[in-house]
Amino acid sequence: MTKTETGYIYGKTALSDEEYQKARKILLDLQAENLKLTEEGYGPFLAAIYDKEGNLIAKMPNTVAKDNCCLCHAEVNTIRQANEKLKTYDLAPFELSIYVTAEPCIMCAGAIMWSGIKRVFYGVNSFDVERITGFDEGFKPDWIKEFTDRNIEVYGEIEAQAGRDVLEKYVSTGKEIYKPSCDR
Ligand SMILES: [Zn+2]
Repeated sequence: MTKTETGYIYGKTALSDEEYQKARKILLDLQAENLKLTEEGYGPFLAAIYDKEGNLIAKMPNTVAKDNCCLCHAEVNTIRQANEKLKTYDLAPFELSIYVTAEPCIMCAGAIMWSGIKRVFYGVNSFDVERITGFDEGFKPDWIKEFTDRNIEVYGEIEAQAGRDVLEKYVSTGKEIYKPSCDR
């Protein structure tokens, strides 16, 4: 794990400075779009999948409240869109990266593992998501090690402050914290 100017870098392969700057820009743009989407009633998380050449393959926000479906997290929605667009359940041959405004929850970590996506870039870590919003991100013991063992690279806390700002605005403006009523 390497500490950088604005976040941590995990994974077996060090990220080049060019790739890191590209990830910072994508995450910043996603956070700005995420803020707008929350004002339209979407949950405060947004994900995008890009190929190696930098082409956008899929991008979706969290639609749990809009779709009345607890599975509709941003990552799951985005992976589903990529599967439909590329007409395959196996994204591995496409060498894709997923960028997410916050660390994947327990469900989305699983979904990313089954998708064949090769690299994960995220903004806000789960500890901060739970602290700011009250959402439960689930239990993910050593998920980054488990991912790297499977040759999925993880790069975390990229432009995290911009992401925390979006979550704080979401909470301060009284938006819905959707979760099962049996939750803690
Ligand atoms: Zn999730």
